[in-house]
Amino acid sequence: MPAPEFIPFARPDIGQAEIDAVAHALRSGWVTTGPEARAFEQEFAAYLGGGVQAVAVNSATAGLHLALEAIGVGPGDEVIAPTLTFTATVEVARYLGADAALVDVDPVTLNIDPARIESAISPRTKAILPVHYGGLACDMAAIHAIATRHGVQVVEDAAHALPTTHQGALIGQLASAVTVFSFYANKTMTTGEGGMVVTRDAALAERMRIMRLHGISRDAFDRFQSRTPAWYYEVVAPGFKYNLTDIAAALGRVQLTRLPAFVERRQQLVARYRDGLQDLPLILPADAPPGEVHAWHLYVIRLADEARVTRDEVIQALSDAGIGTSVHYVPLHRQPYWRDRYGLKSEQFPVAEKAYQRMVSIPLFTAMSDSEQERVIAALRAAVR
Ligand SMILES: *Cc1c(COP(=O)(O)O)cnc(C)c1O
Repeated sequence: MPAPEFIPFARPDIGQAEIDAVAHALRSGWVTTGPEARAFEQEFAAYLGGGVQAVAVNSATAGLHLALEAIGVGPGDEVIAPTLTFTATVEVARYLGADAALVDVDPVTLNIDPARIESAISPRTKAILPVHYGGLACDMAAIHAIATRHGVQVVEDAAHALPTTHQGALIGQLASAVTVFSFYANKTMTTGEGGMVVTRDAALAERMRIMRLHGISRDAFDRFQSRTPAWYYEVVAPGFKYNLTDIAAALGRVQLTRLPAFVERRQQLVARYRDGLQDLPLILPADAPPGEVHAWHLYVIRLADEARVTRDEVIQALSDAGIGTSVHYVPLHRQPYWRDRYGLKSEQFPVAEKAYQRMVSIPLFTAMSDSEQERVIAALRAAVR
């Protein structure tokens, strides 16, 4: 019998329309940041609504760096973030000479625990960096209340949260200083590599636009399209090289039009996982409150206390059945750099620690077929019995 085809943990959903749009950008004679990137920014801002401005960047990591720079994070400052996230959330603080105060998460949502934020606030705290884990909104009402009370900023790592709502409003529209989305290959929409930074604050948007391109006050497209001399520009700061190409933006514009269908497919797949797995000794991921949207970037199952197999055994069984999985995340307090820099101990993060020991992210992507999903369910049922 031939081995069944491998089901990856994630696979991007790229169709002919994306291929045509990229080919069009390639043939247009303008491949770097230009009309496609500008249109992508406008369409993304319009999608979110609420009068936000959007700044396209070549990764969410770049966007987080620009956001922290723009709100004035610098040497000696501290940002508060969950330990259960990707290192990009906090590495950008170190780029600026600031430090990360890592805190534990909520046992139900696995989102940053507001009570832990409150106890981590110090005179050095400059910002809170909530991460909408898996696509479920953090308790932003509580987080904004803490931020206001202590006079600190909020920068949302919304890499998983397109589209996600909190109290009826899309993430990106809330009262945070800046919100950062990712278009990495496995996110809910992709540009290969890319990201979008969103703010309502015109001064922050302007600073991030300038720092995105070498600290130059006019971008190349402006310079070559405008009637004033193209050769003249002014460098006003030592900026970065974080602009998104028109090739990537052309891909992103098509993906954005497909986002409603992507969300619907993810919701269908999640409902099928719930039906197929709910009688097993597993903790299935928390749903959004009634009426709210969960982006379902990830489907993270946890072995319940009564389960008789380990996380590693489940991962091995799925791998033997030709199914890719992942773990989101090895908590930052376990990563050598962060652990050693701050002398962190696992006992300080009991919730993230227990979740980490028992969690597996199983395949969830819009291009997954029903029969592929049935194979995942059957393999998981056999693995945990
Ligand atoms: C993917 C991801 C990032 C980084 O996004 P890039 O676009 O790859 O830079 C940051 N934070 C979280 C939580 C992510 O999942």
